[in-house]
Amino acid sequence: MPDTDQPASELPDLVRRILDETGATDLAARLSHPHRRLEVAVPVRRDDGSLSVWKGWRVQYDTTLGPAKGGIRFHPGTDADEVTRLAFWMTVKCALLDLPFGGGKGGVCVDPKQLSPLEVERLARSYVKAVADVIGPDRDIPAPDVNTDARIMGWMADEYSDITRAHQPAAMTGKPQALGGSRGRPAATGRGALIALQEWARRKDLKPEETTIAVQGFGSAGAHFACLAHEAGYRVVAVSDSQGALHAKDGLDPRAVWAHKQEEKELKGLIYCGSSVREQEDYETLDRDALIGLDVDVLALAAMQDAVDAENAGDVRAPLVLELANGPVTPEADAALAEREVTILPDILVNAGGVTVSYFEWVQSRSGDYWPEEDVQSRLESRMLEACGRVYDRADEDDMPVREAAYRLALDRLAEATESRGDRTYFSGS
Ligand code: GLU
Repeated sequence: MPDTDQPASELPDLVRRILDETGATDLAARLSHPHRRLEVAVPVRRDDGSLSVWKGWRVQYDTTLGPAKGGIRFHPGTDADEVTRLAFWMTVKCALLDLPFGGGKGGVCVDPKQLSPLEVERLARSYVKAVADVIGPDRDIPAPDVNTDARIMGWMADEYSDITRAHQPAAMTGKPQALGGSRGRPAATGRGALIALQEWARRKDLKPEETTIAVQGFGSAGAHFACLAHEAGYRVVAVSDSQGALHAKDGLDPRAVWAHKQEEKELKGLIYCGSSVREQEDYETLDRDALIGLDVDVLALAAMQDAVDAENAGDVRAPLVLELANGPVTPEADAALAEREVTILPDILVNAGGVTVSYFEWVQSRSGDYWPEEDVQSRLESRMLEACGRVYDRADEDDMPVREAAYRLALDRLAEATESRGDRTYFSGS
């Protein structure tokens, strides 16, 4: 246990165990407290003239490897602890992918679906005003997360440039292309997840056309993943969103479902999905939560954290779980699934395509040299394959869960960087 005034109680048991076993005491001490946790008021003038004030946060968990990096979510369930947990995962994810970033996350406790588009714009700008002192291209670079998209990141980038009175496209990623966004960023999380699945399938000899997939969560990551998996020949048989699920035994075309959702959204003139995948006609509809228990080969979890917990872990019938959301399987469910030999490909690897292309966007925005989509895709593919190779090899060689292999590799990298800045041996003169 590190010698600090508070034990590392917030760290997941898996992380504490690895840090203990590897003797990375300096890193354990560092990770026992987030580097910085800022809580702010986010005031927004409503369309009716009244003023609403919501709580917001920006957490920079660790900056050993570079400026903090991570998304901002607008969600009514968000709080300081959730944002901190997510910032910790970003730290590990960036380390695993060998990106020159630390880990951060932001959030506002608000339900954006209750706001008009103009109110959402004021919310985005107000959040940036509140955290402007701690962010910036060399300090902390926000990006999209739950309920934030390219349009919102564009407003945030614009606000940050206004505040600093300088054009600063590298201060945010996930922006629209017209404002310096990278080609390929919107699909990047889904594309990265497909690469992680394909590499696993190649090693285990799974044939796409014989592999059925159910996707929980039909937001940006889940929908892009479903469409790309369908195009790669996999049989996507079910998708769900917060309202309900669609199921078609012989496979459905997620592109048609997505088009329907987009169209409805536009018709209603909303930023957020006013329609649900449940309204699609040609398929069987299911209760939202029933998707988890479908008899499929791959269960892709792309909704929210804690989607599979101790209570519903027993419902999972898929032998392979793909984590596209951050933290969709609780540690208790993780243990229960491991007992039943369900393989989990973990979030810090599977959903890392998003932050990887964010890194490409940051590089492009700093240099002013914007890459064609094929370059973005091939660089994403080589980074993901390299990381998957390291993680899957380690899991095989040491016969350990894939999540543990990923954490060991990421923590090794963080420990090396921590020690390179000076450790006990320097200071004891030995
Ligand atoms: N919100 C995404 C994640 O959780 C992307 C973060 C980023 O691009 O910085 O990985």
